[in-house]
Amino acid sequence: MTETPHPLPSTDPSSASSSSRAAELHSALDTVFDEVVEDLTSLVAIPSIAWPSFDPSHVAASADAVARLARDTGFTDVEVLTAATDSGEAGAPAVVARRDGPEGAPVVVLYAHHDVQPTGDEALWDTPPFVATRRGDRIFGRGAADDKAGILVHLTALRLLGDDLGVGVVLFVEGEEEAGSPSFRNFLRDHRERLAGDVIVVADSGNWQVGTPALTTSLRGMASLEFTVTTLDHAVHSGMYGGVVPDAALAMTKLLGTLHDDDGAVAVEGLRAEQSTDVDYGETALRRDSGVLDGVELIGRGPLASRMWTQPALTVIGLDLPHVDVSSNTLQHAVRAKLSIRIAPGDTPASALTAVKDHLRAHAPFGARVAFGAEEGGSPWCADLSDPVVGTAMEALTRGFGTDSVQIGLGGSIPFIADLLEEFPRASILVTGVEDPDARAHSANESLHVPDFRSAIVSEALLLEALGRGA
Ligand SMILES: [Zn+2]
Repeated sequence: MTETPHPLPSTDPSSASSSSRAAELHSALDTVFDEVVEDLTSLVAIPSIAWPSFDPSHVAASADAVARLARDTGFTDVEVLTAATDSGEAGAPAVVARRDGPEGAPVVVLYAHHDVQPTGDEALWDTPPFVATRRGDRIFGRGAADDKAGILVHLTALRLLGDDLGVGVVLFVEGEEEAGSPSFRNFLRDHRERLAGDVIVVADSGNWQVGTPALTTSLRGMASLEFTVTTLDHAVHSGMYGGVVPDAALAMTKLLGTLHDDDGAVAVEGLRAEQSTDVDYGETALRRDSGVLDGVELIGRGPLASRMWTQPALTVIGLDLPHVDVSSNTLQHAVRAKLSIRIAPGDTPASALTAVKDHLRAHAPFGARVAFGAEEGGSPWCADLSDPVVGTAMEALTRGFGTDSVQIGLGGSIPFIADLLEEFPRASILVTGVEDPDARAHSANESLHVPDFRSAIVSEALLLEALGRGA
C-alpha cells in the first residue's frame, strides 16, 4: 500500500441518498484497488500456517506485514502481541492497532486472522497456492479469501474513509485461528483494555451467493462424546456362545440405530431444534456440492438450510471394532464409539451432552452397560436480532452490494465467538466475510470473488460511517 487517498467527505444522510454514497465509495475504491490487490498478493505470498508442525517464522512475518499495512493505513498505535496458551506455550502473534474516535464515539473492533490452513496435496491446486493468481473474476491462492481478504476489507474500508471517521477503531488480526486459537482466551484477558469495543465486526464468514450479501446471524455449536458399551467381562468364542450371549458389537449397533429416526432426523429428545430460516438451499445445488450419490436420499426434515444451521446433527465419527483383516470368530465384550454433535443455536453443549447421554442409557439394549469417556463442547451462537446494529449492518451490506442482504447461519462453529462474548458480553457482534459458496476455503484452489470483495469493502465503509452517525 502506498499512500492514503484524499478522504471523501461524509455524506449527510438528510441531503444525499446512501446509495449515491455507495457509488462514491465504489469509485474511490477504483482509484486504489490495484494497490489493494498488490497488498493481498504480498500477504498470500507468506505461507503463514500456524499449525504446530509448520515453521512459525512465516506467521511472524505475516504479523509484521499486517502491522506494516496498518501503519500505512494511518494507524500510529500498532503492536504485535502474543499470549501464552493454558499449557504455557507461546501463542502466535496477533496485530492490534488502535485509533481513537471523537469523544464519546463508539469503538468498533475489526477482527480478521492472518494465519492460513495448510495447502493439503499441492498437486490438487491448479495454480501455486502461495502465488495470488487472477483468473476471470477470481483471485486464487491460500488465504486469498480466508482470511487475508478479510484483513484488507477492514484496512481498505478505513483507507477510503481517511481521517474523517466517526468511530474509534481497534484492528485485531489474530495469527492462530486455523490452529484452533489456543491462546485466544488468554489473549483477550491479557490485552482486554486494548481490545475493548462496542461493536465487533468479525470478517471471517461468507455471503449467501456471489452477488448476494449476507450477515451470519447464527452458528451451530459442537460437542463430542466417547462412550463404551459392554456386555461381557471378556471376549468369547462365537461358535460356543453366539446366539445366546449378546456381544457388544450387536448392542452398540442397535444402540447407534436409535439415534436417528427412519427419515434420518436426530431422534434424541431434549435437543433444541428450530426450522425457520431466511433463505433456503436448492436441493440440486446441495447434492452437487456435497457429492451425494445419485439415488441416495437426503436425511432430516424441514427446510434444507434449517437442517444445516438450526437443527442438531449427530454423527458417529469413530467406532473401535477389530479391523476386518484381523477379525476372528469372537464375541466382542466391549465396543467404544465417538459421537460428534452439532448443536442448534439456543442450546448449550452441557444440555446437549446430557440429552445424548440420557438417550444412550435409556436405549441400551439387552441391559448392556454404557460408560462415558472424554467429552468436549463449544457453544452455538445466535445474534441478538433486536440489536439495532444488526439492521445497520444489513442496510450497509444492501447498499454496498446493490442487492438485498439476507441473514444466514453456519452449520459449523466459530468457537472464538463464544470467547469474545464471554469477555465482552455487552458488545454487538457482526459476523461478515468475503467467502462465497465456491471460495473453497481450507481446500485446494481457494479463491476470492473480486467483485464481492470490492462490495464488501464498500459495505464496511458504509457500516463504519453509519455507526459513526449513531445509526
Ligand atoms: Zn477463517
